[in-house]
Amino acid sequence: MIDIGCNLTHRRFRADLAEVLHRAAGAGVDRMVVTGLNVDVSEKAERLASARPEQLRCTAGVHPHNARTVGPRSPAALEALSHRPVVAAIGECGLDYDRDFSPRPVQRSVFEMQLELAAARRMPVFLHEREAHDDFLAILSRWRPKLVGGVVHCFTGQRAALEAYLALDLHVGITGWICDARRGAHLAALIPTIPRDRLMIETDAPFLTPRSAPARRNEPSFLPYVLRAVAAAVGEPEAHVAEQTTRVAERFFGFAPS
Ligand SMILES: [Zn+2]
Repeated sequence: MIDIGCNLTHRRFRADLAEVLHRAAGAGVDRMVVTGLNVDVSEKAERLASARPEQLRCTAGVHPHNARTVGPRSPAALEALSHRPVVAAIGECGLDYDRDFSPRPVQRSVFEMQLELAAARRMPVFLHEREAHDDFLAILSRWRPKLVGGVVHCFTGQRAALEAYLALDLHVGITGWICDARRGAHLAALIPTIPRDRLMIETDAPFLTPRSAPARRNEPSFLPYVLRAVAAAVGEPEAHVAEQTTRVAERFFGFAPS
């Protein structure tokens, strides 16, 4: 399986990253995509992935929370990263009006800067949207004809949002949010409507620990908890859903077929 979104550069993995990767492999999560959250984290993610190219890919980008940290040299730094062989997508990028850690106009311009890069480099985008659906959709709709593809990671929204993303021919990433019976119930009802060639799974580790997992810190070895919940939602065997989501992720992120 492929965990399409994990923050392995996070300080909570500093002490035991080798064990985390080993446990992931033992749990059937043989490949992972490390998320870039700003230029510095993206450079760290690129170094990490370059050291283990069989196992890891990464994204390069600026999370909307960090949009205000973008400086005049950031676009060139991201452009340089985009040429590295392990950098498989631009992002995570998008809009987050839930916490508003960066001013909204800055979020929008930093988002578009990354869409422009992804279009120019013909790379897919790894997208984040929280409480910003209308602006996010408006920007993305304008750029979509120029983009080769995109995944709305950690989708937790409502049916109308999902339909709008699928109408733009985007992929959808599902996290352990679905393992929470209370918060994830509406999501479980929506998952069967996602075309199977658009669906991928992720942990977003060290965040969003599945309710059912045996530790407080989330890690890629807990991806099977997400798989189990997604398989239950679509009413198919776990092995089948694992196979399908892995093939989709291989194609999307350019991993060699396993
Ligand atoms: Zn995100």
